[in-house]
Amino acid sequence: MKKDHRIALDRRDFLKLVAAAGLGSMLPGGGWADDAGAPSDTPTMPLRDFGRTGVKVPILSLGGMFDIPNNHMVLRRALQLGVTYWDTAASYEGGRSETGIGAFFENEPEARKKVFLVTKSGARDPAGMTRLLNQSLERMKTDWIDLYFVHGVKNINEIGDHTKQWAERAKREKKIRFIGFSTHSNMQECMEEAAKLGWIDGLMIKYDFRLMREDRMKRAVEACEKAGIGLTAMKTQGGGPIPADADAEKELAAAFVARGFTAGQAKLKAVWSEPRIAAICSQMPNLRLLNENAAAAMDRVRLTHAEEAALQRYAARTACGYCAGCARLCESAAGGLPVADLMRVLMYERSYSSPTLARAEFRQLSDQITRLFDPRSLAAAESVCPQHLPLARLAAEAFRMWGRDAIA
Ligand code: SF4
Repeated sequence: MKKDHRIALDRRDFLKLVAAAGLGSMLPGGGWADDAGAPSDTPTMPLRDFGRTGVKVPILSLGGMFDIPNNHMVLRRALQLGVTYWDTAASYEGGRSETGIGAFFENEPEARKKVFLVTKSGARDPAGMTRLLNQSLERMKTDWIDLYFVHGVKNINEIGDHTKQWAERAKREKKIRFIGFSTHSNMQECMEEAAKLGWIDGLMIKYDFRLMREDRMKRAVEACEKAGIGLTAMKTQGGGPIPADADAEKELAAAFVARGFTAGQAKLKAVWSEPRIAAICSQMPNLRLLNENAAAAMDRVRLTHAEEAALQRYAARTACGYCAGCARLCESAAGGLPVADLMRVLMYERSYSSPTLARAEFRQLSDQITRLFDPRSLAAAESVCPQHLPLARLAAEAFRMWGRDAIA
């Protein structure tokens, strides 16, 4: 099992953090414990090995899909809390995520040395990747990216020897330190195939309290561990294109309230209970959420069996609104239409309350917009969907919300 290492935080600072997040009761006896569970006076951010890179990363990573240019306070606070693994992409916020980080580094040059910086390329071809990498370096006012991802891989054939050679050159030029890809579709297959390649340093995967129970996912995680690939989990709140009903949410919240933490924190803790997940990337666009998640990372409270059972009851009750990312099923049945992408966009709107992001992502599907609403294709996709999602109905709802806008 991998060992956690931790960044110390000033005790008074942490007390302020806990108070700000309203989480005093998370701390049994008003204190903390070290990695072995022994009492400790020092609140710290745990670190885990990131695969075989030799780098230790904080178990909480700051996702960059928010208005960073106007929220430097969040970045500053993240540094104070030891949340020094920052994740962005060339496409986030139309480039403003990267330029916002660049403005921050310009104001606080010492910060760059503390941050494990990740960004992503939407391009697959070497020339496109070089262009986007140089653009990211320029936007973020830095000479290097710690971990560079090919963005949103659905099939391992999207990368290959050309990616490997490109990465070797970029490493020689010291523009990147590590290479990998992110995936929220067909994750298990992509992970197993990545483990065979021998040159992937890290992956960012859709992974949550639901998926972590699946045998196929467990095997994929094991394959990555054996291959020395560092894993970062994303989308860990396990939301879907149909939001959970209020009763299910209330019941879940009630399971954790006695020990003073939220359902959102419980979902993070469930994922952290898998030691082969090095970090969770979480979108934390405000200080409240950053404080809340950091407190969950730093305290030593683990879920009890009863709490884990409550999470699994909730998973079963809300499964019919969740998209599991098995895009190979619905998208091949629908003639290659990006059905899973559409479900992800709806998830941003309905489970993550991110309408701006949802609208922007929907626009990226606009070249397929008319085909996406072909009832026959959607019926074929529905017939193979293991979650029994009402895809035709959901597509119609998406079109009513954003269709006119995307076509315009
Ligand atoms: S088959 Fe269903 S659950 Fe799987 S990706 Fe497609 S829509 Fe989501």
